[in-house]
Amino acid sequence: MNKINYSKELEKRIEEFQKKNEVPKLLLHACCAPCSSHCLEYLREFFDVTVFFYNPNITESEEYHKRVLEEKRLIEAYNKQVDEQDFEGMHSDEHARKIGIIEGEYDPKEYLDAVRGYEDIPEGGERCRKCFELRLRKTAEIAAKEGFEYFTTTLTISPLKNADVLNEVGVQAAEYVNGKKASDGEMPGREIAFLPSDFKKKEGYKRSIELSQKFGLYRQDYCGCGFSKAERERQKA
Ligand code: SF4
Repeated sequence: MNKINYSKELEKRIEEFQKKNEVPKLLLHACCAPCSSHCLEYLREFFDVTVFFYNPNITESEEYHKRVLEEKRLIEAYNKQVDEQDFEGMHSDEHARKIGIIEGEYDPKEYLDAVRGYEDIPEGGERCRKCFELRLRKTAEIAAKEGFEYFTTTLTISPLKNADVLNEVGVQAAEYVNGKKASDGEMPGREIAFLPSDFKKKEGYKRSIELSQKFGLYRQDYCGCGFSKAERERQKA
């Protein structure tokens, strides 16, 4: 079976929007500022982007608050560039748009309930799939509720995360939310759609490291949950 190149899929969608002079409203699930840096630099040229920071998987509250503050600081810096039309050192140009942010609820119990029974599975396995399902389903729900046309996630920028799984989970989240809206008898409207992505491709991951340095972003060395932190500590030891 041919592997899907999700980065190319995204480019094809963007070309279609451009042909039609469309700037779709996109809700971008973001896990942290370093991962958001390249995704936002790229997407703000083509979409009206709002970040959705929803990460109950970051089980330590201090760590969660550190990451959300960095996310807000990065967005402020990007928005200032747009106000001042100053894109020095950036790939962006005058087409860059300002970015909004919605902070989701922070309740680590939601995450712990979602991964119950999978705690000991190493990073990259079924525990992560459950974690993606929780975060992307919530993103799809908020996107539908708030009138976005598309949603996607920064998570595909990580070389440690499987883009096939993430894109599959994203499509399933859209199907779930659209199906729920239909069965709840909501007025038919435009359905919410998952935007395919693989942000690590085309040197996206490398660019996120450059941008993290440029903005002095706090860059954690583990994914987010206590299980991944313990795994990283074991590897370091
Ligand atoms: S390692 Fe990351 S993706 Fe996997 S369960 Fe933990 S927080 Fe979620």
